[in-house]
Amino acid sequence: MIDANLTGSCFCGQVRYRLTRPPMFVHCCHCRDCQKQTGSAFAINILIERSCVVLADAAPAPVCVTVKTDSGRPHDITRCPECQTALWSDYGRRGVLLFLRASTLDAGAEIVPDVHIFTRSKLPWVTLPQGARSFDEYYDMRKEWPSASLARRAAILGDG
Ligand SMILES: [Zn+2]
Ligand SMILES: [Zn+2]
Repeated sequence: MIDANLTGSCFCGQVRYRLTRPPMFVHCCHCRDCQKQTGSAFAINILIERSCVVLADAAPAPVCVTVKTDSGRPHDITRCPECQTALWSDYGRRGVLLFLRASTLDAGAEIVPDVHIFTRSKLPWVTLPQGARSFDEYYDMRKEWPSASLARRAAILGDG
């Protein structure tokens, strides 16, 4: 089980943060956008309330880079102002829900995806673990999320 109080940082270490609650849910996203934006095979994202991501006191203010999405809604990526490591995303600029890059956590290796999504564009040499929950595109949250996580999401976003 993943603890609360996970800590993490950008590559250069100037922006440090901690999480005050465990992740609501963890995505491994194989979509083309994530592949392009990371230069890698997929992105691992922790879904968590913005209020639960606390910057260290001495951390410089992160910078925000906005990119487009297919839906036309903005995708704001928060980066270290120095090394430009992507730390988390706000899809749709909702303000309350972050997709935090799991590999920026100090204990990133302990994070296991709950679901693999957009596997229609998964690189052919990437083999998913047996029994992994995987979806061609997106999925039905109500079927896949634990009820406690659904309640946390509803608390910040309502049912939308
Ligand atoms: Zn940095
Ligand atoms: Zn993606």
